[in-house]
Amino acid sequence: MSQAVEQGTLYVISAPSGAGKTSLVAGMLRNDDKLGVSVSHTTRAMREGEQDGVNYHFATRAEFEAMISQGDFLEHADVFGNYYGTSQVWVRETLARGRDVILEIDWQGASQVRRLIPECVSIFIVPPSPEVLRERLVGRGTDAPGVVERRLAEATEECRHAVEFDFLVVNDDFDIALADLLAIVRAQRLRMGAQQPRHRRLLAELSGPA
Ligand code: 5GP
Repeated sequence: MSQAVEQGTLYVISAPSGAGKTSLVAGMLRNDDKLGVSVSHTTRAMREGEQDGVNYHFATRAEFEAMISQGDFLEHADVFGNYYGTSQVWVRETLARGRDVILEIDWQGASQVRRLIPECVSIFIVPPSPEVLRERLVGRGTDAPGVVERRLAEATEECRHAVEFDFLVVNDDFDIALADLLAIVRAQRLRMGAQQPRHRRLLAELSGPA
């Protein structure tokens, strides 16, 4: 008889641009081979160094809208003028195989996912101060000043939703923030609801005959 596979946990991670979310998620994946990240679809233009199918699945607005009407997305949102969405099938199949899944999405997507999958674990990452946020956004280099101001305004908007999340991680020191994220994942796996089915026999043996 085949053993029922334990369902994976869904982690929803949001942050303002400049908080270091993408590097932190990459660090989580390097440190934990039970974690996988969903590759979103987007209509925004590909940036230098990005690869289709790796950073995002790049799509036209028409393709994206067709996917919306086919119900292909678990969630989707218009984030500052571009569509972004998470594949429904990939997430559900990966969780069903027992793997934990990370979604790197904005607050609007996070709120949709919380409604659909209430047992998901949501984490918000912030920089340690507005000054550091500004430095990190300017530090990206080649942007015109207006672009930085727009990113700052978008970051402020995203941060207004931080309190809706289960966990808050402050990314001042990268290694500490990464350890915090891995601690959240580890604690989640140690919850009684997750441990009891895994250790049913041990608990029965330790508890003695009824
Ligand atoms: P960027 O274009 O800089 O990669 O991402 C812009 C914003 O879109 C970020 O806040 C990112 O988390 C969010 N985002 C990326 N993928 C998705 C997605 O599938 N769904 C939603 N709702 N937001 C996403």
